[in-house]
Amino acid sequence: MPLVAANWKMNPTNEDDALDLVRGVLSVARGHADRVEVAIFPPFVWLSSVGAVLAESGVKLGAQDTFWEMSGAYTGEVSPAMLKGWCQWVIVGHSERRLYLGETDEMVAKKTAAALSSELGVIMCVGELADHYDAGTSDQVVSAQVKAGLANCSADDSARLVIAYEPVWAIGTGKNADPEHAYKTMRLIRRVVGEMIGAGAARKVRILYGGSVNSKNVQQYVELPLCDGALVGGASLNAEDFAQIVKVTAEVYGHR
Ligand code: PEP
Repeated sequence: MPLVAANWKMNPTNEDDALDLVRGVLSVARGHADRVEVAIFPPFVWLSSVGAVLAESGVKLGAQDTFWEMSGAYTGEVSPAMLKGWCQWVIVGHSERRLYLGETDEMVAKKTAAALSSELGVIMCVGELADHYDAGTSDQVVSAQVKAGLANCSADDSARLVIAYEPVWAIGTGKNADPEHAYKTMRLIRRVVGEMIGAGAARKVRILYGGSVNSKNVQQYVELPLCDGALVGGASLNAEDFAQIVKVTAEVYGHR
């Protein structure tokens, strides 16, 4: 089943707006729950109230990050053991964390393994910078990120593992990647995942495209043979737009 994930990032700034947004999404998304897995990633502080709205709806809840230890003296961090009771999913290695918080591939690998060991589903983000794209080194950069991020994973993790290919130059810029570039990179990702956990298990790992996805351009990605859905930032803050993305995805996969 395809996955459409809503990364709200550090939005909205108050709970009433968060609840309005999730209710708006839910009114449409629940009607497609049999064809598309939908997951909402609010900021930590709204997980509980957004989760209460989603209860029993079939729409999943996720956290935008986690730490790699389960408990201890790590001020400000939230562990997979804590999230397990609230969420089904977690995002790790988002480019904004790599960029603004200095997250390394090694940290991403530790977070991925810790979250999987707590039975959370993991969306691990990878993607090249504009400089890499311009220099023609996207493949090397992305394959190194995938290899490093999966260093502690095994075939047993495949069903709960998702890789989001998000070219950094496409995130929040309105410059969504050419579908041909996205397709080639997703094909590379599948191959590298196969080298890491075995080709059979790699077929179960879902691969998403992310980077300025909206209701008008989503079809060209979800139609790609190797694409299992989308990770959506900006457009997920508009209930109608995000609901339309879910609807288009359901229609495309309904015809496969
Ligand atoms: C993201 O944050 O993962 C993302 C893809 O953002 P946007 O859709 O705004 O480009």
